[in-house]
Amino acid sequence: MDLLFPPVCGGCGKVGFRWCPNCQGRIPRIVEPFCEKCGIPVRKVGLCEKCQLEPPAYRLMRSWAVFESPIQNALHTMKYRRNIGGLGDALALQMVDFVCSLQWKLDVVIPAPLGRERLKERGYNQVGLVARPLAHELELKYAPLALWKSRETRSQVGLTISQRRENVSKAYQANPLLVKRKSILLMDDVATTGSTITACTEALLSAGAHEIYALTIARALSHHDLTRV
Ligand SMILES: [Zn+2]
Ligand SMILES: [Zn+2]
Repeated sequence: MDLLFPPVCGGCGKVGFRWCPNCQGRIPRIVEPFCEKCGIPVRKVGLCEKCQLEPPAYRLMRSWAVFESPIQNALHTMKYRRNIGGLGDALALQMVDFVCSLQWKLDVVIPAPLGRERLKERGYNQVGLVARPLAHELELKYAPLALWKSRETRSQVGLTISQRRENVSKAYQANPLLVKRKSILLMDDVATTGSTITACTEALLSAGAHEIYALTIARALSHHDLTRV
């Protein structure tokens, strides 16, 4: 199949790779100091203003990269292109060391779910393309059916912080049989304001989860335009 459809790098388009060495070496990382709770860059060590005012229900949130090229392209590729085999695996492999360095005590990996309509339209959850191989590498259980969207929501793109929160509030439900007393790695592709992670966390805790550690592949920072991410 690769002869007919040679792989193309998800980051830069280079032919012959799913995720080329050049892109692998150009990951824009979040550097210290960042908020101890939500992982967003801050001026000095401690909690960011938002976490001080209103501590999130999750235990910790961290992101592997800043939502910029080439990660931004890779995530876009996983969402909108069909020929994606291998890109999620490559990203997961590259993330393993980072996730291990966090030293989180985890039982199960759960991807942030898509709504039923979006899932039908796309055919797959792009978060799962990375979450599944990552769970495998970490030797953790993968439970994509433990959390689902109980109502449709509109796209968060272009919404303000409070509109985003309102949009996804109480939109998720979790299966107590799969999450009760578990320490959960909740995974999403991009966090912008964190409202999806917060809504998912609330659903998991209501279903009896012990604690939630949130991990996103990328983080959109304040200089990224909310009308575009
Ligand atoms: Zn590349
Ligand atoms: Zn914070």
